[in-house]
Amino acid sequence: MSAADAGGTSDRLPLVAGNWKMNTTVEEGLRLASDVRDATRDVGGVEIVVLPPFTHLWPLRDLLRGSHVQLGAQDVFWETAGAYTGEISPLMITGWCDFALVGHSERRHGRGETDVQVGRKFAAAIAAGLSVIVAVGETESERDGGQTSSVIDRQLDAAFQPFSAPPNADVFVIAYEPVWAIGTGRTATPDQAQEVCAHIKARLVERWSAPGARVLYGGSVTVENAAALFAQRDLDGALVGGASLRAAEFAAIATAAAARARVA
Ligand code: PEP
Repeated sequence: MSAADAGGTSDRLPLVAGNWKMNTTVEEGLRLASDVRDATRDVGGVEIVVLPPFTHLWPLRDLLRGSHVQLGAQDVFWETAGAYTGEISPLMITGWCDFALVGHSERRHGRGETDVQVGRKFAAAIAAGLSVIVAVGETESERDGGQTSSVIDRQLDAAFQPFSAPPNADVFVIAYEPVWAIGTGRTATPDQAQEVCAHIKARLVERWSAPGARVLYGGSVTVENAAALFAQRDLDGALVGGASLRAAEFAAIATAAAARARVA
């Protein structure tokens, strides 16, 4: 199945999300968010999201209220309330936070989160009314072993398993993030990224009857490589880590995504 058959989304608004990870104090985060808001003020044609640490979400909500920059959490738990020390329920951020990220490789591989747990988080966040970015991606040894597609399929299938019907394509985004490219400076080539993003779209249609969702690429995206990545048909934006901590560079990446939308 081609990406076009799979509901290719090159006509959809691209999305660029900045994953700040465990960086910045609240004060620094307020400054960074304010700089991102100002630097992207005139960048139309792209959805912009920042994902700061949990401690920053409430103050950033005030700072970003009414602006073009949306706010999201880097993770959420699957239960809505209870004896889960240290966890954050999707209900705690619903109504004033726009997005939640689930399945980041630093949680899958760094914190031992399973595919099933990612699916439960995805379902809980959707049920709470959040938009969700679901991250998937293979390790270097899985790629070297020719397992990229099967790993992606396994992660996607587990993510969608909890749903009786797939959520509307407007409320979730898949981020393809090869683990070997995250924070390493080793970006996937545009062809590698395109191949997997197209595969994800096809899988969503064939296995889950879920066409039309946007698919982002993440893994060492910088201002230097962004335009070449965004020129690929099935990349609908980026999940940006390190470069999202530099407002001007993050804005330049968002501008590259917006320019791609105009010529697609
Ligand atoms: C990420 O954290 O999702 C990420 C892609 O990081 P980086 O851009 O730093 O590789």
